[in-house]
Amino acid sequence: MENQQELSPIKSNVSVLYRLEPIGINTGQCEGLTGYLTRLAQEHQVLPHTLIKHVVAPLLGKKYLLQDLNRGGSRFFERSISINGVGEFSQEIVEALHDLTTFASLEQLTLLPWKKVIVNKYLLNQSKAWCSFCFEYWKTSNKPLYEPLIWSFRDMAVCPIHNILLDNKCPNPQCGNRVPFLKRNSIIGYCPFCLTWLGIHGTNQKINVCWEKLLWVSNSLYKLVETNHYITHKQLSEQNLQKSFLRLLSTTGYNMNQLAKELTLHKSNVWQYCNGTFIPPLHTILMICFHFNISLVDFLTDTEFSPTFRDVPVIHYANKLRNQKIKIEEIKTKIKLLQKVSPPLSLQELSRRLGYTTKTLKKNFPDLTSQIKHQHSSFKSIYAKQKTENTCQDLRNTIQDLLNQGIYPSRKRVEDHLKRPGILQKPIYKSIWRELRK
Ligand SMILES: [Zn+2]
Ligand SMILES: [Zn+2]
Repeated sequence: MENQQELSPIKSNVSVLYRLEPIGINTGQCEGLTGYLTRLAQEHQVLPHTLIKHVVAPLLGKKYLLQDLNRGGSRFFERSISINGVGEFSQEIVEALHDLTTFASLEQLTLLPWKKVIVNKYLLNQSKAWCSFCFEYWKTSNKPLYEPLIWSFRDMAVCPIHNILLDNKCPNPQCGNRVPFLKRNSIIGYCPFCLTWLGIHGTNQKINVCWEKLLWVSNSLYKLVETNHYITHKQLSEQNLQKSFLRLLSTTGYNMNQLAKELTLHKSNVWQYCNGTFIPPLHTILMICFHFNISLVDFLTDTEFSPTFRDVPVIHYANKLRNQKIKIEEIKTKIKLLQKVSPPLSLQELSRRLGYTTKTLKKNFPDLTSQIKHQHSSFKSIYAKQKTENTCQDLRNTIQDLLNQGIYPSRKRVEDHLKRPGILQKPIYKSIWRELRK
């Protein structure tokens, strides 16, 4: 791998790299190109950095990138956030990997098939997002770990398979980093900073948005990726979008000003969209399609649609939890998976994650919910005990330090050092202080 000469691609049907089959191709769960590149490195038992520096980058014909990589720079990795998108860099990586693996459909691992109607602006996340359930499921069922393309979308908040929020920060409390799409040492399913497993953990995300919209968006993006393999940019044109906007005007009976008002968009923007002079970011198209209940793929491909007015009050997550038909076996499996989360979840957190009220859960799964309650409360008491012990130790150390420096450990001094005003009012700490201050 170190010797670039040996690995220069030969124009023949023998591939330079192992012809790694992308996972989920032709489905909505199709792998993204950055994850594919990482897996390709893993298959060759080298770090992504080695593969990129010695094999991929020399094919791109970009002197500055090569020089930067040779100097140990990170410009390639910084640009990697756009690889799964619709830009030139995606195209170049697709071509390079095609040359190296001879695999022909790698464009499908990006959004390039849609490049005539989708722009890069606000399209992709700045760092990775992932479904911890998907990772956990693949690991426990011995399936290969990979990163579906849909996780790259900025608007993708929910896993369409598990209906849970995607994670976007390392779950290790000592790390908590966002995970870049590609790093020198990226490994699928693990944080490159601290090597923590990214499958289920006890993260605690708060959400206060319309859940129905998040699900709708996530399913629409899934369908978009599913369509990747039979749509080609030759079939699409910028006029597709213009026609869809004009159809929206004719079918709703709105003029441009009224449409802008209805969608809370600036009227000059709506004018540009309807005149075909500007392609809106995918985020805006999603918002419009959701508002009028139109299929995203239909809107992008200029397929006939009939908008309907959606009466959507802002549904807060908590409200969604009521009155759902419960799928017993499916929920049971999810509870059992969530039972392994560390630290253990409270019943409230479990209810939030599953989307059912605590009352419904208790009624349908009395044993499991009481186990969850018990696990959480014993964790809480152990945790509280540990915390008190740590504080006692900090207190003893502080008093001893002050005494060693010849300073009297007055109540105020000790509290200031610990940065915890009033702490010595608690009997347990007060008695330690009284005993040691002499
Ligand atoms: Zn999932
Ligand atoms: Zn980490």
